[in-house]
Amino acid sequence: MYKSFLIKYAEIGIKGKNRFLFEDALVRQAKIALGKIDGDFEVHKESGRIYANAQSDFDFDEAVDALSHVFGIVGICPLVQIEDNGFDDLAEQVIKYIDAEYPDKNKTFKVLARRSRKNYPLDSMEINVEMGARILDAFPDMKVDVHNPEIEINIEIRNKINIYSRIIPGPGGMPVGTAGKATLLLSGGIDSPVAGYMISKRGVQIDAVYFHAPPYTSERAKQKVVDLAKKVSKYSGPIKLFVVNFTEIQMYIYDKCPHEQLTIIMRRYMMKIAEHFAKQEGSLGLITGESIGQVASQTTQSLAATNEVCTLPVYRPVIAFDKQDIVDIALKIDTYETSILPYEDCCTTFVAKHPVTKPNINIIKKSETRLSEEIDRMIEDAINTVEIIEVE
Ligand code: ATP
Ligand code: MG
Repeated sequence: MYKSFLIKYAEIGIKGKNRFLFEDALVRQAKIALGKIDGDFEVHKESGRIYANAQSDFDFDEAVDALSHVFGIVGICPLVQIEDNGFDDLAEQVIKYIDAEYPDKNKTFKVLARRSRKNYPLDSMEINVEMGARILDAFPDMKVDVHNPEIEINIEIRNKINIYSRIIPGPGGMPVGTAGKATLLLSGGIDSPVAGYMISKRGVQIDAVYFHAPPYTSERAKQKVVDLAKKVSKYSGPIKLFVVNFTEIQMYIYDKCPHEQLTIIMRRYMMKIAEHFAKQEGSLGLITGESIGQVASQTTQSLAATNEVCTLPVYRPVIAFDKQDIVDIALKIDTYETSILPYEDCCTTFVAKHPVTKPNINIIKKSETRLSEEIDRMIEDAINTVEIIEVE
């Protein structure tokens, strides 16, 4: 029955003069999403609306799934679009539509007509009343309820006429590509994929950096991170993943610095290296999955110590989330099952029994002086030997 979708967006609507930039980005992202499935689609905007029209056969569920991963979309309306051949023809089409879409007629409904073409012979109120009467004639089991209808039948009189009643929720947010780029520190855990998803949801394109410590972390642990990036990229679009070999740096810190400070010092070097790739790629910020108090390295004191080495803004979208709230999002975006696979990450291998929870920045810095210039050479090596994986 459906050959088109009406795509609804919300927040873009308030963007004033720049609005077209957001609409164009949404059209672009919808095209990319639909381009990945079988079937040809044409996507365009037309007086404050975005339409996706199938030019060939397609799988309905696949198309809805593709669009429900496009940030900026709040509603996906499967649409019947007809030419204006007079009111009788319209009524016939609406009745056919209801018959196909709602096999069970024991439902309350309301007709909501909008007339943007003012030369149509009936005004909106008249269409509502007359169409309501025709529907009741055709389906005596249906009842009108103008306050709380189960079905809201939208009829939009434009150059063509749109008929729709179902609104499938979209993911919300802003279209990717409207808010610059940021670099996600992506581990194999639950939190960082969620953090990447959340920032990307605001329209930010993302790159990712993963710190790998072979042989302490396995190929499987790395593959898990690639898989997570793939899941996030279903929303964010392609992710350039930088896999940094962190073993030498980690061992060196382990060797030279007090063990209870290891995690903090390591996190500071991770941030520094991530920032290198961020700047190289034109990113305007870093993203982490840190949440206050979750572990020793995420107390406010630890976060301050980690943050102290950063010159770019660090976005921590789950900073005030309880673990369960993060898990809920991970389940929703389908990263959870992958995140909980039990492959060791580089922080657990060397983790101290009693890590500092209130690091003093001066003490941390003093410990770091034990690392000499060797560490700079190691950072350079880590940067030069990075493996880049284009994840789609
Ligand atoms: P996650 O579930 O995201 O792994 P976590 O609770 O395990 O978080 P930590 O291991 O303390 O927390 O890491 C905090 C943040 O630091 C992560 O959310 C992530 O952004 C970053 N991070 C930690 N380990 C790595 C790594 N090996 N590679 C890249 N980023 C990392
Ligand atoms: Mg982790």
